[in-house]
Amino acid sequence: MNDIYEIDPVNGGKEGGLARVASLRDTLLRRDPDTLTVLAGDLLCPSALGIAPYKDGRLHGQQMIETMNALGLDYITFGNHEFDLPEESFYNRLKESQFTWISSNCFRENGTLFPGVVEDKIIDIKGVKVGIFGVTLSKKQTDYLIYKDPLVAAEQKVEELRPKVDILIALTHLTKDDDIRLASRLPEIDLILGGHEHENMQLWRGKDFTPIFKADANARTVYVHNLSYNTTAVQKLAITSKLYRITDALPEQPKTAEVVKKWRKIGYAGFRKKGLHPERIVATTDVALDGLEASVRNFPTTLTELIARSMLTAASEAQLALYNSGSIRVDDILPPGQITEYDIIRILPFGGNIVTVTMKGVLLERALTQGLANKGEGGFLQTGRVSGGQGKPWRIDGKELDPGAEYTVAVLDYLVKVGDDNLKFLVNTPEVPIIADQGDIRKALITELQAIFPAQLASP
Ligand SMILES: [Zn+2]
Repeated sequence: MNDIYEIDPVNGGKEGGLARVASLRDTLLRRDPDTLTVLAGDLLCPSALGIAPYKDGRLHGQQMIETMNALGLDYITFGNHEFDLPEESFYNRLKESQFTWISSNCFRENGTLFPGVVEDKIIDIKGVKVGIFGVTLSKKQTDYLIYKDPLVAAEQKVEELRPKVDILIALTHLTKDDDIRLASRLPEIDLILGGHEHENMQLWRGKDFTPIFKADANARTVYVHNLSYNTTAVQKLAITSKLYRITDALPEQPKTAEVVKKWRKIGYAGFRKKGLHPERIVATTDVALDGLEASVRNFPTTLTELIARSMLTAASEAQLALYNSGSIRVDDILPPGQITEYDIIRILPFGGNIVTVTMKGVLLERALTQGLANKGEGGFLQTGRVSGGQGKPWRIDGKELDPGAEYTVAVLDYLVKVGDDNLKFLVNTPEVPIIADQGDIRKALITELQAIFPAQLASP
C-alpha cells in the first residue's frame, strides 16, 4: 500500500477501507504465513479525521496508527506528509506504532535516527535473506527533521546490503522520476515499492528492468507481489504481481473494523462539537475534483474553480475571488460520486471565513503577480474571474486590470489576517479593509456543490 489518509472507505463507501484491506491480508496470510505487509509512506497527514478535535488537541494520526496496528502492518517508510505533524504528535505516533518504520535518509535534527526507526531491515524467510531499505523525497521541511539525499542514501544502502541479502527491496516515497533514476542507477535493487503518486503504476526501468510498483491512494487498490526465489537456478528471483481493487465486494475484518469504528466515532463527535455533520451527503458529482497538491499549487482545477465560484456566490458584491492554494489539503482526486460533509473537511480542513475586502488595482496586481510566483507552494493563489499573468496583463472579469481603480475582492480571511508566503503585505493593513464577513468557506462550498450537483440520496 501507499498514501493512505483515511481509515474508512472513500468514494461514498465504495472503495478503499482498511478493514477490507485487513481481510484481504488475512486471506493472503492463510495462503502464505510469510506474507509481509508494507506501506510506502504517507499515512498520518493530510487526513480529515486526523484534524478532529480530541482531548486538548487533535487526533493527529492516532486513529491511523491504531488501525494499522490492528491490520498488522509490518514495515513502513516515511512519506513527506508524515512531517506535517507537530513534533510532539509525530514522536507520539512513532511510540504507538507496533510496526517498524524504516528510513535510510530521514533523521532527527541532530543526525540520529528517530526513536524506534531503523535504517534497514534484513528478514530471513526460510533461509532466504530479504533486505529492505527506505527513502523519502526531501520536500517537506520541518525543524525537527534533516534529510540525506535519497539517491545517495540508497546508493550506500545498496553497497552495504547487497552482499548480505538474496533479495533487495527499496521501499520508497519518491516521485516517479526519482524512482526511475533509482532503478537506472542501482540495478542491484530487485524491486521498488513506491508511493507519493496516488495512482497505480507499473514500470520496468534500468538495464535489467527493475520493476517499480505503486498502488492507488487511500487503499483504492493494493499491490500483491509474489516473490519466488530458486536457490539452484541462474534466474533466481521471479516476481508476479497483481493489483487488487479494494471495494465493497470485500468483507471487513471485524478486528480492524472495530478499531476504525471507534476512531470514527471519536473523530465525528469532535467535528459535531464544531457544528459539522460528517456523514451528511451534500452532493453527487459527475466529474472528478482534482485536489492533488501537485495540481492545486500549480494551476486551476475543477476543484479550485468550484471553491472560487462558491466564494463569489457567498460574496455576491465581489468582482473577483482570491485564496491561497495551501488551504486545500486533500492531496487526492475525488472521483465522481457522492460527496459528504466529511469530504468537505478533507478538502478544506482548516475552514476559515470568506471576507470581502477592497484594494487598489496596483496592490491587487502585486498580489496576483506574487501569487503566481509562489507556484508550487501553499501561497500560490487560486482565483475566480481572473485571467492573464505570465507576461500578459492581468484581466478581471475580462477587462484589463486598472492600477488606479478600486476592486472589491472576496478572499479567504487567512490571507488578510495571517498571511501566506511573500503575501504578508495584505495582512492587517488599512490598504485592504474588510467590508463584510461572508461566513465559513466550507459552508459556501457545500451550498455551491448542492446548487450544481444535487445529492441523489436514493442512488442504489
Ligand atoms: Zn507524498
